[in-house]
Amino acid sequence: MSGNIPNSEETSTAALPPSTLAPLGLGLISLDFDGTLVDSMHPSDHSVHPSLVRAIERLRAEGVVWVINTGRTLSGLKVGLDIAGLPFAPDYVITEETSLLAPCADHPEGWNALGDWNHERDHAFRSLLAESGHVFDEIREFVTAHTQAEYLQRTDGLDEIVANSEAEMERICHRIEEVRHAHEAHPLGYQRNTVYLRFGHRGYQKGSTLTRLASYLEIPTQRIFAAGDNLNDLPMLDPEVAGYLACPGNSHPLVQETVRRHGGYLARSRTGEGLTEALRFFGFAG
Ligand SMILES: [Mg+2]
Repeated sequence: MSGNIPNSEETSTAALPPSTLAPLGLGLISLDFDGTLVDSMHPSDHSVHPSLVRAIERLRAEGVVWVINTGRTLSGLKVGLDIAGLPFAPDYVITEETSLLAPCADHPEGWNALGDWNHERDHAFRSLLAESGHVFDEIREFVTAHTQAEYLQRTDGLDEIVANSEAEMERICHRIEEVRHAHEAHPLGYQRNTVYLRFGHRGYQKGSTLTRLASYLEIPTQRIFAAGDNLNDLPMLDPEVAGYLACPGNSHPLVQETVRRHGGYLARSRTGEGLTEALRFFGFAG
């Protein structure tokens, strides 16, 4: 067990010791799943492009850590991975943008919490919920009165909104930001993907979760490659999170603009083939 992990949960899993990592160059690749690793627009073919499978296999043999960083639940990701039929599993997964999981043969799910991150997130969100009923009320009232979107209240407080269009979701996000500012930059956050939105805590998203994993593994930001195609990927497509940024050719315009602004690589090809293109560009794929 690596001693750098503040591991208070007896059942949580330890990270690989840093000595197993590549001494130079790339240390970790963080890839979104839908629209990045697999092509969600073509559900009949959810395979990963063979060139990317080869590239990841080669990188892993060199000690590079492979992470899937997705908005899917763990069960949803398992289904996706089964369909994708990859010859190897990721070293770590981040599910629902914020759950940090490591493989664990003894756990019924096959994956277990890594360190204290998930516990910290739950605590932060519970505190936010306890103090913020009025903030949720304001947002819900706006959605109900001024949009055609559906506001779904969840018992765990992770309410969701389903809009009728991206433009409508844009208006809702704008209103949420207004409400946040009216409440002195309230820590309420959300994960947005196309017309779907799920509330959470601003401090917990794909970027901060990846940063915590990298800190456990003692991999510096400069040695991290991150790629994604949609708005919930924006927090990890940030030079403070990863030194190498990329997006496939099918990415959301705002994702493309962000990656371009940060000097990352915009692939021409879609999904997995686009990622191979990006890895080649940075000199990490043959
Ligand atoms: Mg995606």
